[in-house]
Amino acid sequence: MRVFKFGGASVKDAAAVKNVAEILQNYKGERLVIVVSAMGKMTNALERVVDAYYRKTGEAQARLEEVKQAHYAIMSALFESGDPVFDAVNDTLVEIEWVLEDEPEESYDYIYDQIVSIGEFVSTRIVSAYLNKVGLPTTWLDARDVILTDNTYRAAKIEWSATEKNAARVVSPLLEKGFVMTQGFVGGTSENFTTTLGREGSDFTAAIFSYCLNAESMSVWKDVPGILTANPRIFKNVTKIDRLSYREAIEMTYYGAKVIHPKTIKPLQNKNIPMYVKSFVEPAGAGTLINSDTGQDYPPIIVVETEQILLNIATRNFSFVAEDNLSVIFAALAKHQLKVNMMQNTAISFSVCLTNRPDRIAALLEDLNADFNISKEDNLELITVRHYKKEVLEKLKTNKLILLEAYIRGTVQMVVKDLPEVERIN
Ligand code: ASP
Ligand code: MG
Repeated sequence: MRVFKFGGASVKDAAAVKNVAEILQNYKGERLVIVVSAMGKMTNALERVVDAYYRKTGEAQARLEEVKQAHYAIMSALFESGDPVFDAVNDTLVEIEWVLEDEPEESYDYIYDQIVSIGEFVSTRIVSAYLNKVGLPTTWLDARDVILTDNTYRAAKIEWSATEKNAARVVSPLLEKGFVMTQGFVGGTSENFTTTLGREGSDFTAAIFSYCLNAESMSVWKDVPGILTANPRIFKNVTKIDRLSYREAIEMTYYGAKVIHPKTIKPLQNKNIPMYVKSFVEPAGAGTLINSDTGQDYPPIIVVETEQILLNIATRNFSFVAEDNLSVIFAALAKHQLKVNMMQNTAISFSVCLTNRPDRIAALLEDLNADFNISKEDNLELITVRHYKKEVLEKLKTNKLILLEAYIRGTVQMVVKDLPEVERIN
């Protein structure tokens, strides 16, 4: 069997859903598990519902109405009125109404998961109904019947052995009947609460199913021809990489490449399952193949992370920044769930580059303020170049001020900010 994943952009409107169905016609009769994300920007829209509800702005209903209308517009373009899919979607969306009826008493993260996961439940209802309509027999599967997690809401951890058993028991028989379609991004706890796996987590869901069902391969269908040497929205002259090793892929995602979710590679690597990144715009294209192959020469690969901040943390009493101070700093970073993107230290100070999460950073600074002098610089970029070439680096540094720079074998990382445009007049 194989696993396919279609992300939000691939099902963003009625035409997109039809395109997915057309792609899948080529695989009719195959044993396929299809993982689908929420449609278009619906996850962001549902986040706005949660926010309005939790902060009691009085706008939660209006925000929910936007989500409903977006889905109704897509359904109306795909189905005759009276099609049972309308009831199925209503029954799903009404779960949000029930939450909104009561005051928010549970934790933000818990509420988030109960509401935001609905985007995936609705999209899979619509897409699976459409596939059935166009002659592709498809069973809708509740991902919570397979993916068991702990109760770390918004960043749930997988209970692998139970999930593996569930997959064999639940999914295998369904595959005899046709395609199986399920939600990306969601899981369930042993007490039947819904959890989510972190934003953009549908790739990871596909990898979980691939691992648990020993898939022959996994394919992620995207709006790009494959994995590119840099983000085409930022750089000219990017090229497609035909083949990548698991190792190269995991390093790229670790440094912030957004093409696949960072947790996706490990389950695939552990069972040596090849992964394809393919284009839903040009499905016949070869895409990128990720596997255990290591004998490749890679071109320079550039990853840019925006919204970075640089903290310079210095001891107040002029003591060295050594293991004891570092362990205090790292404990605080872990406590506030801040991931270190890059770091360096000198005798009495420690510089660390983090993604700007204003609330968490403020809490971190409060914890560290007693013992350290901290300065902060924001609106920075973190640029990582793997397999760098000198010319590429020179170009990237044009008009940039480098605040921190590190070379680790073939990889360069630099924290930069734009230089003000200055021009000599004589
Ligand atoms: N719908 C979720 C998100 O937008 C999960 C995903 O798309 O992978 O983050
Ligand atoms: Mg998405």
